[in-house]
Amino acid sequence: MDFARVELSGADADFRDRARAFLDTHVTDEVRRRDRATGDNFDEAVHLAMGAGGWLAGELRPEAGGGFDRVRTRLWELEKRRYRVPWVTWSTTAIVVPAVRRHGSPELREEVLPGVYDGRIRLCLGYTEPDGGSDVATCRTRAVRDGDDWVINGAKMFTTGAHNCRYVFLITNTDPDGPRHRNLTMFLVPLSSPGIEIHGIHTVDGDRTNIVHYTDVRVPDRYRLGEVNGGWAVLQGPLNEEHGVRRTAPDGLQDISIMAHHGAYMATVVDDVAATVARPGPDGRRRLDDDAVACRLGRSVARMEAALSAPGVFGRVAIAQTMRDIAPELMDILGPAAALPTAAAAADDGGGPEYLFRWAPLCGIYGGTLEVFRNIIAQQILGLGRPDYTPPR
Ligand SMILES: Cc1cc2nc3c(=O)[nH]c(=O)nc-3n(C[C@H](O)[C@H](O)[C@H](O)COP(=O)(O)OP(=O)(O)OC[C@H]3O[C@@H](n4cnc5c(N)ncnc54)[C@H](O)[C@@H]3O)c2cc1C
Repeated sequence: MDFARVELSGADADFRDRARAFLDTHVTDEVRRRDRATGDNFDEAVHLAMGAGGWLAGELRPEAGGGFDRVRTRLWELEKRRYRVPWVTWSTTAIVVPAVRRHGSPELREEVLPGVYDGRIRLCLGYTEPDGGSDVATCRTRAVRDGDDWVINGAKMFTTGAHNCRYVFLITNTDPDGPRHRNLTMFLVPLSSPGIEIHGIHTVDGDRTNIVHYTDVRVPDRYRLGEVNGGWAVLQGPLNEEHGVRRTAPDGLQDISIMAHHGAYMATVVDDVAATVARPGPDGRRRLDDDAVACRLGRSVARMEAALSAPGVFGRVAIAQTMRDIAPELMDILGPAAALPTAAAAADDGGGPEYLFRWAPLCGIYGGTLEVFRNIIAQQILGLGRPDYTPPR
């Protein structure tokens, strides 16, 4: 591991300062408060300002096409994280864009990409269905050809951000009797199409996601991505990106695991708790001087550092599991006031551990559950083979 500091050139330091000035102006406490209140994890005004300022295009365009280079991409990423910019809808958009570039017709690319760069167009993921999400290939949402159009019927569960997006990247089944993985077709469906109904669902951490119903939704063929029944190939890039299956670049200018963002929030909470217990209370005593507190805090810090240092899929599992394990420890250390929610002024530390406690279970579900990733590690990385569920003789 290389812990060397990156020496910034004058131009890169200017870039970082411009990024900070932009974020200072636009990502205010009010934005963060509103985000917690709505659970949207998206702020349209901030997003449009990023588009107008060229930040979205810089992040998403390839360097040769006018995008940021590696150092600036990294600076921008880290600054956004420091300012806690609402991020979910931009990340689903960024996951889908490469598939639109690669598999969309020139007409579709022209319809979608300029609006993505200026912030007007956002994209969400329509994979999971009410009957199950881990195995996306079991898709039941049907698309049936009708002349130059397709007619879509079905329902998708947990389409996060759909209410703030213009299109959904939708998995459909175009051949129910066909072989598995060769009966799926991908579409970029305009969410304003008649027959689409979006209903909000609020999760235990206060986030909003959606169930989306599709009833006789008519979509022209130009919204298809890739071949008919060739959707599995179109999905591979976006799925790998979401799962965090990517090669580590030798320059070190990227997160070592996909959950690093979540890990960074956990680190902020741990730091806040450590600072709180190191301050003398009204009786002049520091909670940290209680050996039980020091031991539990130390153990939490050690777990967290190990998780933050784990790469790739290992990191994803380690961070989500550690969040689950240490959030109750941190709440115990702080005592009853830690159970107050974030917004409660009386919360001992601003409510960080309480939110971490509610957020942690979801981090081990979306984009693939901890169990599914543990199986991937066991089977594909450790080579332990597939489990045998046949009953013992
Ligand atoms: C907050 C939130 C946001 C989300 N956003 C999106 C989104 O934007 N778009 C989208 O399409 N989906 C989204 N999802 C759905 C998410 O990807 C799925 O919830 C996840 O893939 C698990 O699918 P499931 O909930 O249907 O559980 P199931 O697949 O029904 O699994 C149920 C249980 O069985 C276990 N299990 C299943 N298969 C295996 C296996 N092979 N081995 C071992 N255990 C197994 C699981 O671990 C789980 O405990 C979101 C979910 C949440 C909670």
